[in-house]
This record gives sequence, C-alpha cells and structure tokens, in this order.
Amino acid sequence: MSAKLFEEVCRYARQTAAWASIDAVLGWDERTHLPPAAAEHRAEQSALLAGLVHQRWTDPTFGRQIEELAGDSDGDAALIARRLRRQRDRRIKMPKTLVERLARIAIVGQQAWQDARQNNDFPTFQPVLKEIVELKRQQAEAIGYDDCPYDALLDEYEPEERTSRVAGVLGQLRDALTPLVGAIQQSGRHPNIALLYRDFPIARQERFGRTVASAIGFNFACGRLDETAHPFCTTLGPHDCRITTAYDEHHFGSALFSILHEAGHGLYEQGLPVEWFGLPLGEAISLGLHESQSRLWENFVGRGRPFWTFYYPHAQQQFSALRDISFDDFYFAVNDVRPSLIRIEADEATYNLHILIRFELERALLDGQLQADELPVAWNEKYKNYLGIASPSDRDGVLQDVHWGAGLIGYFPTYALGNLYAAQFFAQAQCDIDDLDSRLAAGDFRPLLDWLRDRIHRHGQRWSAAELVRRVTGRELSIEPLMEHLRTKLSPLYLS
Ligand code: ZN
Repeated sequence: MSAKLFEEVCRYARQTAAWASIDAVLGWDERTHLPPAAAEHRAEQSALLAGLVHQRWTDPTFGRQIEELAGDSDGDAALIARRLRRQRDRRIKMPKTLVERLARIAIVGQQAWQDARQNNDFPTFQPVLKEIVELKRQQAEAIGYDDCPYDALLDEYEPEERTSRVAGVLGQLRDALTPLVGAIQQSGRHPNIALLYRDFPIARQERFGRTVASAIGFNFACGRLDETAHPFCTTLGPHDCRITTAYDEHHFGSALFSILHEAGHGLYEQGLPVEWFGLPLGEAISLGLHESQSRLWENFVGRGRPFWTFYYPHAQQQFSALRDISFDDFYFAVNDVRPSLIRIEADEATYNLHILIRFELERALLDGQLQADELPVAWNEKYKNYLGIASPSDRDGVLQDVHWGAGLIGYFPTYALGNLYAAQFFAQAQCDIDDLDSRLAAGDFRPLLDWLRDRIHRHGQRWSAAELVRRVTGRELSIEPLMEHLRTKLSPLYLS
C-alpha cells in the first residue's frame, strides 16, 4: 500500500468535512439565533456549500484514489477506503436532475405540509406527497437494492440494514407491546401528572439541566447548550458539539429530558476519536445507533429509580413546586404510560407503536399497496388497532410529522431501532459493571460513560450497527431486553 496515497485520501476527505462543518455552523445558527427575515439568504449560503461538498465527493480523481486504496491496502486504510467508497457510491448513482428535484420537493413539501397541518387540510398536501413518493421510488431505483426499494432508502440512515430484518424485529415488538400497553390501559391506574405542570422558573430549569448534563459527562469546554424550538444536537468540529433544548415554565421535565436526550447524542459525538474527524473512523455509525445513545441516557438512566434517588432531593431544593410531592408520586409521574395521539409526546413504551405505524405505512406507500389519498383512513385504522385510539383530526393524525413532507422516507424505523439497541446495550452494561444501579444512585455516571466510550464511541464506523450489537452484547438484536426493561419497570407501577 502506498502510504502517500492513504495520506492524500485522508487529507482530501478531511477538507471536505471541514467544508461540510461550515454548513453545520450555519445550520446551528439558523435553528438558534437567525432573524426570520434572514432565512432566504441563509438557504442560499447553505445550498452553495452543499453543492461544493457534493462536487468534492463526486470528484473522479477522488473516486479513483479510493478505488486504488481499497484494492491495495489492509487494516484501517482498507476499512476507510471501503466506507468512503460506499458513501460516494450513493452520491454518484443519483442523476443530477433527480438530486435537484428531490431538493426542491423537500422545500415545497415542507411548506405544503405546514399549510395543510395548520388548516387541518390533508387533501392539499396529498398531491405533493404523491410526487414525493414517486421521486423516492426513482431514488431507490437509481441507488439499487437487493430485496425491495425500501432497502435503498433505509440504507441512507441505517447503513447495511435490511427492511426484511427490521420488519421482522419490529413485528415481534408490536406483538409483545400491544398486550402490555393494553393491560396498562385496562389497569385504570394513572399517575397524577398534574404534579409536573406547576411553576418551574426557566433560569432554574436551565441551571439544573446544565448540572445534570455535566454530571453525566457532557463536556462544556467542547460544547454548548442553547435554546431552540425543536431540540437537536449538532457537531460543528472536532471539539465543538452543540446541544439545544426548549423550556416550558409550566412543565417539569420537557426541557430536562430533552437535555438528557441531546446530551446523550452529544456524549457519543464527544466520544468519537478526534484524530479521525472527517473520516469514517471518527463518525457515527447510523441514526439508529445515535438514537440508542440519546435514549439510553434519557430513558434507561434518566427515567430510572436510581437516577432520581440521587437527583430528586436536588430537584426539590431547586424547585419549590416539587417540595410537597413524594418521591413515589414523582417517579410514577415521570413514567406515565398511556396511549396518545402525538408521537413526540409519547412515553417510552407506546412510542415504539407510533413508529411501527409509520414504518408500515411508508413501506406500503413506496410499494404502491397504499395510495396517498388512502393514507388518513389507513393511519386511523392502525392507531385504533395498535393504540386503541383514533385522531379526531388529520392535524393530530397523519399530518403531525414533518418527515414525509421533507422527503424523509426510511427514517422512522431508526427511532425504534435506537430504543432496541439502547435496551440491549444497557442490559449488557448492567452485567459488565459492578452494581451499576448503586453507582447511578450515588450520582456516579463515570463507569457507564467509560463503558460506552470503550465499547461503542471510540470505534466510529469500524462496524455496522448490527455487527457492533453482536460484538458488544454477544448476540443478535432482540426485542427481549427492551420488553424485559419495560415489564420490570412498569409492572410494579401499573400491574401489581
Ligand atoms: Zn434523538
């Protein structure tokens, strides 16, 4: 292998990543501080950079160099070449006209979705959705697939994953979850969630959120926490990870749990090897794997008894509204499980059923088994079957998510995969770390973070998500750890 060639490929890829990270700075600014009137110019700036990054990826010389390196190297160099080739292949297989049409329809689609949602008027969105599905079908054909067109779309978010495998696992999850959620609903037991809707001064919420994010290991010397409308995490460079949250003065938890969620994403980003920034060994594996890190901290740690054993006295000290609420009432309230209409407000058990519904519907749309105009009816049927409820309006039904309008088909299952990976990793961490619960109950999060750093973060894209799960836990992805977690936690609250 030519060391010079390897160096050349790395240098080029790092420069491309530097350009892409400039776009990330603009994106972060857009979602946190940008004055509304500046949006148009920002879109122009962003499009310029995206075009430049695309041009660099598709550059023929770069392509030849990757090919040569892949054929004539071993170890990390071969791995990097193969991963780069994979990413590049997806880009060059798409005809330029299709890329442009998809970019345009994503903007038109989001606008149409926003209007339709506001006016509770699905029929105005329907023709745009029909066109989006058709273009996504063309995209799948251009990229190519083994079994079904959905494979080609899923691969963008969950590389090397297959629709058939995901459908199998999520089908099992549906069959196990539906009776559990049904039993919880029939139990007639509900926490008093009104306890969480009192006055919680925002300045105190922010202080508390920062303290918790720091305590679990988010490094503020290499990151920031800011306010936004829809919380997200983004990386702007090797030592610059930004997390965001939205505060609600009259609700305890929405900001805190979103901070835990985004800090979980941030811990993964901060744990990737800096020396490989811009190269596959310094980047996250997949959306599902990323989501596993956020869910692990948000739900498995943050909604757990040990976590609140440590933090509830601190929370009571910060917020006078909590002082007359017993630990048990509070703990039950933050673990409220009940079928609801809105995905982003769903609890950790029913959330997966919201995802299943979308996964099944978008596959049917792509296969042509379901037409866009049949979607609202099909949507409500599934909500009735899986969650026992139906939305009185399309606004809170089929129009609630931006994804399809933005052209994101194949994205939804990564949320449920994230929950499954998180459960399987957390169960393994419980085995590997001595007395993990006591450590968490003492506010000591270091052993868990060290474990995640060692088993997951530091490897970047060395393995696919499925392979990493096998390596870390010694078995294939399974629904059992998640079901076990939910049964163990929820049975004493609802069913005993
Ligand atoms: Zn997330």
